[in-house]
Amino acid sequence: MFFSCILYLVSFLCYLYLFPREHILNIESFIRQEADKCVKCGLCLPHCPTYMKTQHEGDSPRGRIALLQGLVEGQLQFSPQLEAHLDSCLSCRACEHACPATVQYGQLLDAGRAHIAEHHHGADSHSLLDRLSNHAQPLGIPPLLLRLYQTTGLQWIARRSGLLKKLGLQRLDQYLPRIPRHVKWRREYPSQGKCRGSVALFTGCASNLFDQATLQATIRLLTRCGYKVHIPPEQVCCGAMHQHNGNIEQACQFANSNLKVFNSLSADALIYTATGCGTTLNEYQTLARQAFDMPVMDVSRFFEQISWPDEITVEPLDKKVAVHDPCTLTHVLGSEASVYALLAKIPGLQLTALPDNATCCGAAGSYMLTQPVMADALLSDKIKLLETLQPDILLTSNIGCALHLVAGIREAGLKIEVIHPVALLERQIKSDKR
Ligand code: SF4
Ligand code: SF4
Repeated sequence: MFFSCILYLVSFLCYLYLFPREHILNIESFIRQEADKCVKCGLCLPHCPTYMKTQHEGDSPRGRIALLQGLVEGQLQFSPQLEAHLDSCLSCRACEHACPATVQYGQLLDAGRAHIAEHHHGADSHSLLDRLSNHAQPLGIPPLLLRLYQTTGLQWIARRSGLLKKLGLQRLDQYLPRIPRHVKWRREYPSQGKCRGSVALFTGCASNLFDQATLQATIRLLTRCGYKVHIPPEQVCCGAMHQHNGNIEQACQFANSNLKVFNSLSADALIYTATGCGTTLNEYQTLARQAFDMPVMDVSRFFEQISWPDEITVEPLDKKVAVHDPCTLTHVLGSEASVYALLAKIPGLQLTALPDNATCCGAAGSYMLTQPVMADALLSDKIKLLETLQPDILLTSNIGCALHLVAGIREAGLKIEVIHPVALLERQIKSDKR
C-alpha cells in the first residue's frame, strides 16, 4: 500500500512536470486580463494586414480582442462567424508591436483558440494538419516517401488525375519544393582548427524536411568559425503550429521534450535557422514555465556577434539582392538588423530591403494552407513589389515565408532564387570546398 501511494505520488508529480496545465487552467483569466488592457484606441489598426485588406472591425486586433472578451464574459455566443474572424488572424503580431497599452496580443489569441478548442469543439477537435504534425516531422511523413512521391511519377499522376483536388491536397502539393536526398545528421560536428566553443543546432521539422541546404551551410560555417555543433537526434518540433492552433497541451509536450534534450548539453548557445521556430523556443518560459539554460539565438545574430576569423575571406557578389524580413524576426525577436549586418560581409551586393517589410507575406505557419484567400492576397502584394524590383535573389530567414514566396514567384513566372541569408554568405566563402 505504502509503495502504491509513493508510486502514485511520483506519477502525479511527473504528470505535473510534463504537462504544466497552469497555463491552460488560467486561460479564461488570462484572456480577461489582457483584453482589459486594451483601451480601444485603434492605433494598431493600420498595422494589421487583415484589417487593411477587409476594413472590417472583426478582422482587426481591436475587434478580435472585443470578440474574445465578449465570448469569455458570456456576452457573445460562439458562432462560425466569430471563429472565422479569429481564424483570419495571421498571428503576425504587428499589432502587438504597435500597441501603447502593451497588450500581449499573440498570447491572447493563442489562449482564445485554446478556449474555443476546449469549450466549443471538444478535446479531439484539432485539425487534420495539426494531428498529422504531432511528430518530429511535418505532416508526419518521412522524407523518403515524399521523395518517392516526387521521383516515381506519382505526383504527376496525382496532379493530372484530379486526385489531389478531390482529396483537398492540391494546395499542400503546390507548396512542396523538390525534396533532395535526405541527410541524417551526425550527433556532433567537430570544429575546424582551434575550438572556440560549442553550440547546439535546432533543426526544426519543416527546415529539416524542406531546407536541409540551409542547415548544412550553417553547420559548415559554424565549424569553420571554430565551433563544435551538437545536433541531438531526440529533438522534436518546436510546437509553434500547435500553440497557435489552440493545442497548447501538445505544444507543452514538445517544449518539455526539447528543454530536456538541449539542457542536458553543455553548449554556449542554441541556434535556429527558422525564425518561426525561434520565436516559440524563446517563449518556452511562458508556454512551459521553463527556459533553456543557454541563450537561444537566430543564426544571423550569432554570426554577427562573434569575432569573425581573419582567415575567412568572402568573395564579392555583383547581384541585386532583396531581403524579406519575416514577421517573427521584426515584430517578435526584433533582430532583423543582424541579417543586414551579416550581409555587409559580402562585397558588391546591391542590397535592398523589400519595401513594406513590416507587412506579413501571408505564409504565417499553416495559415497559407488554411486561409488561401487572404494568404494569396498578401502574397500578391509581395510579388508585385518583386516584379518592380526584379532582384536576382530574395533572402528570407524563415522556411514558411520561403515556401510561400517561392510558390508566388513560380506562379508569376519570375526568375528569382529564394534562399536563407546564411546560406548565401556561406556560398560566398572562399576555399570552403570540402
Ligand atoms: S496578429 Fe497580425 S493579423 Fe492578427 S490582429 Fe495582429 S496585426 Fe492583425
Ligand atoms: S493599440 Fe492596443 S490598446 Fe489600442 S486598440 Fe490596439 S490592442 Fe487595444
